[in-house]
Amino acid sequence: MTGEMESGSDRFENSAGCPACGSVRIAPWRKGTIDAASLRPESVRITDSAYGRTWDLARCRDCGHVFADPCPAPEFIGSLYGGVEDPLYDEETEGREKNFLQVLARLETILTDKGRLFDVGAATGILMNLARGRGWDVDGADPSAWAAATAGAKYGLAVREGLFETLALDPESVDAVTMVDFIEHTARPFDAVQKAAEILKPGGVLCLVTPSLRSVAARLAGRKWWHYRPAHLAYFTRRSLDALLGRAGFTVVRRRSYSWTFSAHYLASRKKVSRFLVRNARLAGLLKQIPVKLVLGDSFEIYARKERPR
Ligand SMILES: [Zn+2]
Repeated sequence: MTGEMESGSDRFENSAGCPACGSVRIAPWRKGTIDAASLRPESVRITDSAYGRTWDLARCRDCGHVFADPCPAPEFIGSLYGGVEDPLYDEETEGREKNFLQVLARLETILTDKGRLFDVGAATGILMNLARGRGWDVDGADPSAWAAATAGAKYGLAVREGLFETLALDPESVDAVTMVDFIEHTARPFDAVQKAAEILKPGGVLCLVTPSLRSVAARLAGRKWWHYRPAHLAYFTRRSLDALLGRAGFTVVRRRSYSWTFSAHYLASRKKVSRFLVRNARLAGLLKQIPVKLVLGDSFEIYARKERPR
C-alpha cells in the first residue's frame, strides 16, 4: 500500500480473494490512475466522461475477473453515491426507456406472471416507472438522495435511499430483481447477488446487465474503453459472472449481449468539442429527438433463476 492509502486506510480494503469466484489465486493486473484524495461525488456519476481511469486492478487466475484491489470500502463508496446529482442522466430518460423496455420485455418472456419487481440502483426511477406501467408491483433502492427525490417528484415512486446490500427487506418477497449497470459499482458483488437471492421467491429471476471485459469493444478501445472509470470497481468475464451467480444459488436461463440506445444530443454532449452545440437550446432540442443505437454490444445481459429447493 502507498502512504496515501495508509492515511485513509479505513476507506480501502485489501481483497482476501476473488470477489466473484472466491479463489485466492489473484495477481496484480494494472496499476491505477485515480487519485483517491481528489474523488468527489461527480467522479461516480452515471454520465461521468473521465474514461480510461481505473483503481489499482487485480485479476483472478481462475475466472479472469478483474477488480479494484485495494477496493474502496462500501461505506466510502456509499458516501460518494449519497451525494451524487446527475441531471444529464435524467435528461436522457427517453433513450434509457428504450433500453429498459427491451429488458422488461425479455424478462416477461421468462416470468410470464408479473408480480413484484425490485430494481437495484434504481437511479431516478425510469425502469421502475416503466415496469409499473406494464403491470408490475414495483420497489427499488438507490444510495443517491437526489435520485430518490427525483423519482418521487417525477413519478410518485418511493425509491428506498441506501445501499441495497444492507437494507432491511423481507425474504422471499419478490418475483424479479433487476440490476442494470449496478454490480460493477459495488465493492462486494457477492453480497449484492446473495441479497437478491434472499429477497427472491424460489423460482424468481435476477436480470443483470454489466460491461464485458473481453468484448470486442473493450479490446478495440484498450485503455480508453469507456467503462474504465472511477465508478467501476469490477470488470466481469463470462466465467466470473457465472461463478458469482452460481455461488449465490442462481442458474443462468438466458444470456445475450447488450447494446445501448442514446440520443444524438447525449453523444454530442460527451465530447468537449461539441459542447457549443449543446449550449444552443434550439439545436439541442432537435438533437434530443434523434435516437442513436450504439451497437457496441459490450455488456452482458443475463437472466438467472433462483433455484427451487429440491
Ligand atoms: Zn475468480
